[in-house]
Amino acid sequence: MARLAQTAGLTDIQQEILSTVRSFVDKEIIPVATQLEHRDEYPTEIVEGLKELGLFGLMIPEEYGGLGESLLTYALCVEEIARGWMSVSGIINTHFIVAYMLKQHGTQEQKDTFLPRMALGEVRGAFSMSEPALGSDVSAITSKGVRDGEEYVLNGQKMWLTNGGTSSLVAVLCRSDEGHPEGTAPHKSMTTFLVEKEPGFGEVRPGLTIPGKIDKMGYKGVDTTELIMDGLRIPANRVLGGTTGRGFYQMMDGVEVGRVNVAARGCGVAQRAFELGVSYAQQRQTFGKPIAQHQAIQFKLAEMATKVEAAHAMMVNAARKKDSGERNDLEAGMAKYLASEYCKEVVEDAFRIHGGYGFSKEYEIERLYREAPMLLIGEGTAEIQKMIIGRRLLEEYRFQG
Ligand SMILES: Cc1cc2nc3c(=O)[nH]c(=O)nc-3n(C[C@H](O)[C@H](O)[C@H](O)COP(=O)(O)OP(=O)(O)OC[C@H]3O[C@@H](n4cnc5c(N)ncnc54)[C@H](O)[C@@H]3O)c2cc1C
Repeated sequence: MARLAQTAGLTDIQQEILSTVRSFVDKEIIPVATQLEHRDEYPTEIVEGLKELGLFGLMIPEEYGGLGESLLTYALCVEEIARGWMSVSGIINTHFIVAYMLKQHGTQEQKDTFLPRMALGEVRGAFSMSEPALGSDVSAITSKGVRDGEEYVLNGQKMWLTNGGTSSLVAVLCRSDEGHPEGTAPHKSMTTFLVEKEPGFGEVRPGLTIPGKIDKMGYKGVDTTELIMDGLRIPANRVLGGTTGRGFYQMMDGVEVGRVNVAARGCGVAQRAFELGVSYAQQRQTFGKPIAQHQAIQFKLAEMATKVEAAHAMMVNAARKKDSGERNDLEAGMAKYLASEYCKEVVEDAFRIHGGYGFSKEYEIERLYREAPMLLIGEGTAEIQKMIIGRRLLEEYRFQG
């Protein structure tokens, strides 16, 4: 039988990369994921393996030591990795977003300084927009960067940094009023600062504290943290792109490719849930036959597989659109919305197929059940995706009467 979620038209190189990643996931991730997750343990060995595979530099151009691959290749790798353990895809996702923002918007000096070391996984990226009082409403950011000679002084509190502790380069979005007088539209008075730091917790450089890991219901192993800036001094050449006032657009560009990756994660987690459900349904007997032979369970499997296929197709479409150089915010928003909702539903169905055992920590589906909800939130909630989709539809289908 053909596997679900096949992708037509891949090159030999793409197929080779994907088959290498898939076998890494089967051998090195799936057997240990649930144990590590239950201990909330960082997957150090897996990360070393990803470095060897070159995954931290997958989309970084070859001139900087990366593999120069497309967003599609990247998203398909993320799908495979999330099938093994969603947290591992989270470890590379923020890194990928920061590398992408540097590639698209960085000065030549910034690209030369960071991209080669990012391609090797020596410098690892995190990005930080959210604050304790805001996530969806990025325009309400209160953290501030104020110019002082050849430096900026940053103050404020950030929230929910994926890889906040393990990263060594954080792209931090702050308000910067320099050159932007009072009353300037919020999105025109924001700047992305490239903050270098030591990995770890506590005061990781003067003026910068990473307090500790936030205790989460799922998405464990990968660290999610706060970040506190108290008189943090940043050289002026660490303004992304060299000019203030562009941070909002730079971050939105990064988040847009990030959305394709969240969709890919949803596809991967849903695939794994389907695999677990279809396998269990053929082993568990009730009323004298495997539950897979009861029509109600077959219908569930049919719905699950259809959702896996549909989400994969939309994710691939959104990635290909971006790779062709076209605007893909509509497709990325739709793919992220659909894949994360379907993922939650497929995981729920697989959980139900497991009956009482789904509630036991011995079964992998228990972990997936706690992981899927994160996809409804990260890189913009379902409501925010629908706002983006709705606005774009009204642009495309403007009433001409
Ligand atoms: C595990 C995890 C990791 C994260 N990693 C990162 C990271 O690496 N970097 C980062 O910057 N952020 C990160 N985030 C933050 C994440 O992006 C935000 O949680 C998300 O954007 C939602 O923001 P919020 O939590 O403040 O919810 P709010 O914005 O307060 O929203 C609350 C609810 O109101 C709804 N809502 C808000 N505005 C509207 C509206 N206009 N119309 C209709 N409904 C609305 C939302 O959809 C949601 O249901 C992470 C979050 C989590 C949980």
